[in-house]
Order: sequence, then C-alpha cells, then structure tokens
Amino acid sequence: MTELADDGLVRCTWAGGSQLYRDYHDTEWGKPLHGDDALFERLCLEAFQSGLAWITILRKRPAFRAAFAGFEIAKVAEFGDDDRARLMADAGIVRNRAKIDAAIANAKVARDLPVSLDELLWSFAPAPRPRPATNADVPATTPESIALAKELKRRGFAFVGPTTAYALMQATGMVDDHLAVCWVRAAADGTDPAVTFRTQVSARVGNREE
Ligand SMILES: [Zn+2]
Repeated sequence: MTELADDGLVRCTWAGGSQLYRDYHDTEWGKPLHGDDALFERLCLEAFQSGLAWITILRKRPAFRAAFAGFEIAKVAEFGDDDRARLMADAGIVRNRAKIDAAIANAKVARDLPVSLDELLWSFAPAPRPRPATNADVPATTPESIALAKELKRRGFAFVGPTTAYALMQATGMVDDHLAVCWVRAAADGTDPAVTFRTQVSARVGNREE
C-alpha cells in the first residue's frame, strides 16, 4: 500500500499523485501550525474543500489567498457586499455562496473571540498517539474533533463539522496522522531528513556549477 516514490521517499498514500500533493504533504500537512491568520486560512480551505478533491483547493490556493486578502482575519471580517460579488465572480476560487459567506462570517467570529483562534483550536488537540499503521487506522472524526466542531458551532462558526474539524486537526499538526512508514518525521524528532537530503543535492549541484 506504500511505495517508494521516484525521489526515493515513502509517503502517505494520498500524497503520491502529484507534485502539489507531495509538497503539501512534505512541508505542511501534519506540522504543528500556529498563528491566528495562518490557522484561519487552513480552516477556510478545509471548509471550502468539503465535497471537493483536496487537489482542487491546492491548485486554487494562490487565487484564494489573493481573493481573501491573504486570509488576514481583520481584513476578511470587514468584507462587504462588494467583496461577496467580487468573490462570486472569481473563477480562481470555489464559487459557492454558502462557503464564501461562511468564510466571511467566520472571520468576524474569529476576530471577536475572547481568546485567540490559535488558543481556541489548540485547546482541543488530543494527547499524542502512535502514528496509524495503515489508512484503515486513520479516523474520519474523533471525540476531540466532534467536541471542537460543537464548540466552533456554539461560537458561531459555520461549515466546520466534525469531519472538517478533524481534517483541520490533521493538517495543522494537532494530530499526527502520517502513516508509520512515511518518511516525514514526527515534529518532536526535530530533524528533517528530506530537507537535509535536498540540501545535500543542491549543494552538489552548486559545486558542479562552480
Ligand atoms: Zn506522510
């Protein structure tokens, strides 16, 4: 179920399809992420993903960032009807009125939280557990994601159900669902063999050029 990719690395099976998936998997997915705006971006992207392939979102991500003011909560919270019309006319993003409205409404809720979005989301991170051995061991929801979704809903967030909440937890490193065989090291390990590998390769290429 897991194979060596042509770059000699074993990855989670979902990450094999394209370079975009690989890069996202290798450099972002599952790595602990902090910062209100950064987390808001991922919350929005996961909400927009609902019902679509994640690759669609990754392809559209630069357009999303441009359309949503870099996902700065303070700016998106001020979006009005003109922005709604602009977003609905932007073929670069997912033009779904309910999701666009939810993103803007969620920015308002995030801006007005009594705690930071970072603090709120991370307060639901479970204790570390062993990495899943196979895809069958990766849950779609967990008690923590169900609790997070419930709390987000209570606070007024839209489009973040338990499944989306769990995808957010995976994506932002609140849980580590890289398969046990995946080359990506757990955050606690510190070292990053692929970066080291790439650095060595580029150093060799650099030497050759000199
Ligand atoms: Zn992985």
